Amino acid sequence: MRFALASAVAALVLFAQRPQPADVVVLNAHVITVDPRFSIARAIAIADGRFVAVGSEADVRRLAGPKTQTIDLHGQTVIPGLADGHLHDAGGGPGVDLSRARSIADVLRAVAERVGQSRPGDVIVTNSDWHEAQLTEHRLVYRRDLDTVAPNNPVVVVRGGHEYILNSAALAKWHITKNTPQPAGGRITRDSAGELNGELIDRAKSLVTLPPAPRLTVEELQAQHRKLNAAGLTSIRYPGAPVEQYRLLQEMEQRGLLTMRVSQLLRFNSADSADAMRQAIASSGVRADEGDEWVRIGGMKLAVDGGFEGGWMREAYAEPWGEHGTFRGVNTMKQAAYTDVVKELNREGWRVATHAVGDAAIDEVLAAYEAADAERSIRGRRWTLEHGFIPQPDQFPRMKALDLVISAQDHLYLAGPSLVNYWGAARANRTTPVRDYLDRGFVVAGGTDSAVVPYPPLWVIYHFVTRDTISGGVMGAEQKISREDALRIETINNAYLTFEERIKGSIEPGKLADLVVLPEDILTCPEKHIEQMPVSMTIVGGKVVYDASRKGLRGE
Ligand SMILES: [Zn+2]
Repeated sequence: MRFALASAVAALVLFAQRPQPADVVVLNAHVITVDPRFSIARAIAIADGRFVAVGSEADVRRLAGPKTQTIDLHGQTVIPGLADGHLHDAGGGPGVDLSRARSIADVLRAVAERVGQSRPGDVIVTNSDWHEAQLTEHRLVYRRDLDTVAPNNPVVVVRGGHEYILNSAALAKWHITKNTPQPAGGRITRDSAGELNGELIDRAKSLVTLPPAPRLTVEELQAQHRKLNAAGLTSIRYPGAPVEQYRLLQEMEQRGLLTMRVSQLLRFNSADSADAMRQAIASSGVRADEGDEWVRIGGMKLAVDGGFEGGWMREAYAEPWGEHGTFRGVNTMKQAAYTDVVKELNREGWRVATHAVGDAAIDEVLAAYEAADAERSIRGRRWTLEHGFIPQPDQFPRMKALDLVISAQDHLYLAGPSLVNYWGAARANRTTPVRDYLDRGFVVAGGTDSAVVPYPPLWVIYHFVTRDTISGGVMGAEQKISREDALRIETINNAYLTFEERIKGSIEPGKLADLVVLPEDILTCPEKHIEQMPVSMTIVGGKVVYDASRKGLRGE
């Protein structure tokens, strides 16, 4: 009774303290709140960039004043702003664009066109945002393919973050021959006849010096964030970028230019020892976890293996990549040095996020995290496994004991058939077993690894719900998850990943007003619609940052 009276008084005081009406009310909506009960609401009120009421039309209309902006959604669906926990950039760039190539001939035509615009000897480089799984041949272009269109220009085909393919002129330019020793943490690949096929994996890429990428600017980041907003993204986590990028983001915040909430992991490529890491952190002037709800430091990115073509496995690759059962992928940072760096970061109070694709890579991560945990517990500090493609049953309890969060992406959606080639069907079909992770009680935060995989977050939801892939059909159907779980993975679980579940990730009073409007109910529409659905509107901090109707066209 006394408590009831106290809360009635508190409610009155609250009303008395809030004479100010809402800035925005959203009416006539189907609001999927993603609150703990997954409740559905009809209307939302926003003030000072936060949700102040979520409920019935009557609940919300009460808060409308003469200056309140009213958005009538005519029954459209509202979900919390979507997040990507592992996004490098939005793709594109000044190199040769291969994102629309659908065959080897398309790739060669695009390279040939650039050759035609260049002088003999000019180095030609492609953008990285494409994958051979999008080509009807399901294979890479190789040295001999490239030689047919570029006999006199060094060509470096960049694919994803782990791979270059060079033509003969490029191999000659950088003096790479059959006698070049295999670099530690990398791989110079050969064809079945023992000849170089032009492929350089992981640290072998350092044999090549590319023309410097154009400097990243505020304008470039703004343009990228606008593209991402149009796909429904309101929060992203950069999985390893230099301090300079963090400073640009801070400048954007100060100038009021941000339309995206950003968490950035730092990455110091050459910090291969505890001493080097300590010095790199000191000279960066950045403190662990500093920042606010717009720009935040989210920890330190490390990596121990390659990607599709270099994920480090307990068992050899499928032939011919297995090279007669000897090739198990690429270990880019050896256990001793890696453990040394991880322990140092733990002593300095940093959170660690490690790229680990294969099961052998996960073994290395677990050994290092356990060693750090023995000195100072990492439980509750949300250290992460980035990717975690092929976890083994014996690894789950160890991951659980360390209280790890899983940062998982939809690589299989893009690369399915290639992964069968590299690893065989059994491993490919298990790739990124989200169902297994959830069943064992892990928090899984979703993303794309863009520009390795294209950034639309609705594709992530579609893939996790169906396990369908772009060109290989359904793979690993037993790993399907519910639409509700997929939505959590793309919203509140990402907020958890960055210690922000109290301020975002669901539509609840008091939280940051980040939301996405969709033309259909994502929980009940036909499955294929999830993949093809355009975004109607995106709101960040109560401001409309994307509105399809105002652009006159849908999407970008
Ligand atoms: Zn990545």
